[in-house]
Formats: sequence, structure tokens, C-alpha cells
Amino acid sequence: MLSNIDTVQFLSSSNARRLANEIRERHNVDQYPVPIESIAQKEGVIVKPTLILSDGVLVREKRNYIIKVNKTIHPYRQRFTIAHELGHVLLERLYQKFANIHECSTGIFATKNKEERFCDSFASYLTIPDKAIIEFSEWNRISIRELVKKAHQVKVSLTPLVWRVLEHAPYESGFLWFRMMPKPTDPNDIKLRLSWGVFPKSERIYLPRYVSVSKSSPIYQAFESSEERFYKGVKLNFGSLRARRNILIKAFGQAVLTIVLPKEIDPDIMLTKDKDSLLPFIGVDKLERKENGNFT
Ligand SMILES: [Zn+2]
Repeated sequence: MLSNIDTVQFLSSSNARRLANEIRERHNVDQYPVPIESIAQKEGVIVKPTLILSDGVLVREKRNYIIKVNKTIHPYRQRFTIAHELGHVLLERLYQKFANIHECSTGIFATKNKEERFCDSFASYLTIPDKAIIEFSEWNRISIRELVKKAHQVKVSLTPLVWRVLEHAPYESGFLWFRMMPKPTDPNDIKLRLSWGVFPKSERIYLPRYVSVSKSSPIYQAFESSEERFYKGVKLNFGSLRARRNILIKAFGQAVLTIVLPKEIDPDIMLTKDKDSLLPFIGVDKLERKENGNFT
């Protein structure tokens, strides 16, 4: 049996990726959407959709693992949750220890301890194989509209897909979710605020929640339409992210997704790539409108 220190060292993003690839290989899964529930079952895990407060709970009865998944959350999020809980099962098999019950809220990378983050990474790698995102290896192929389409093809929420794509694409980039919401200290002070953001290749960037966006910012103006837009040199001022950067933005109901492009990418590449599909980023599909909110 390995010590606690070995366990902690194992919990890296690269090991999450390795483990996910091994599991897909073990079950001969070469296509997407990845049949996540059937993989869990083949691993000897019982999956039970049920009514619970969290996204998912992992319990063990005698020798059986049972993943209880909240049946009221979006089906794509249920898939992610099953993958996340399967991550706990595999970790426990590797390290032969079990903390009787795990209760998890998945899909939010910006929280939690190392094991929870590991299971989120594992779930992202398992549900989104490299093959599914290979077309986004170049920046001039990346647009939020295309990512939304891809998320439906892969049957995953938009956020883990964006995380995977930005981690895979060249140079350092990030995404920021803004939502119309109050501060916890003042329920009446509703503004467009930073809900959370991640730069997958950088842990140095500090992004505090609840920082508000001024009405004159292009991020706020994303609400004017549901079309995707590209802006050059927008002044960003959130935590340690203080710079003029090129951004893609798109509103989803009461939320705005912003992708911050790498500094190295010439914005003109984004503007000239494909006259048919770019600027203004039109053509939002109906599915996406219907499912915004939970889908993200
Ligand atoms: Zn968990």
C-alpha cells in the first residue's frame, strides 16, 4: 500500500490523462460520445440516477460501488458526474483506501482539494478524447459557436470542453464566465460579475469571484445579441489579469463566456480565416438556446 505522500504525488493532471486513456483502451472505446455509463458498469460500478442535493455521491455497499447521480441535472452533466465518481473508484482501487462516502459537486474546476480536482480532470479527459478536439489545434479554427456544436456531438457541457481545447491549443489562454448576480454580502447589488475563470496552463493567474464588469465593456455589451463577437485589445482588469487582450465573447442567457486569446496569436488570423463563418459570428442554433444555463 502506498503512503499519503505517494497518493498526493499521483494526483497530477498528466496522471489523470494517463488513467483516462488507459480506461478507454481497456474498454476498446475509440469513438465519441464516450459510453460513460457502460464503462462504469464494466468496471463493476452500479449507476443509479436519483434525487440528491449534490451532483453525485459514491457509496460502497459490501463489495459494490454505487454511483448515485442527481437525475435533475442536465444529462451532459450527469455523464461528467459519473466519470468523476468513477475517478474516485479507480483511485481507491489503486490506493486501497476508502473514505466511506464521497459527495461531489462536479463540473467546477475552481474549487476543492487535490483529489476532487484530479477527478474533474480525469472526467474531462475520459469524456473528451484528444480525437474529439483535434480540429481545434489551431487558433484560427477556434470559435465559441464551433465549440458549442462540438459539445453537443461529444455530449459534454461547454465548460469542460473549453477547458480541454484551451489546454490542448498552443500558447497560454483562458476562459472567463460572467453572470448577472449579486455579491454574497449584498443580494440587491446585481451586476455582471466574474463567476469563475481558468487559464488551464497557468496556475499563476489569480481570478477573484464577483469582480464586476463595467457597462461600457465589450463583455457587458455581449448581451446586445446572442451572436459571437471577436474584439481586439480589450482592457481586462480582473485580479492578476491586467492587460489588453484579444477576446472572443458570446452571451448565453444571463451569462457571458469570454475566451482570452494567447498574446502570441495575431488577431488578423482570427478575422481572415473563413469569410463564410466569421464576423459577425452569426448562426446560433436552437438547441443551444433551449439548453443554456444548465448546459454550461
Ligand atoms: Zn468527487
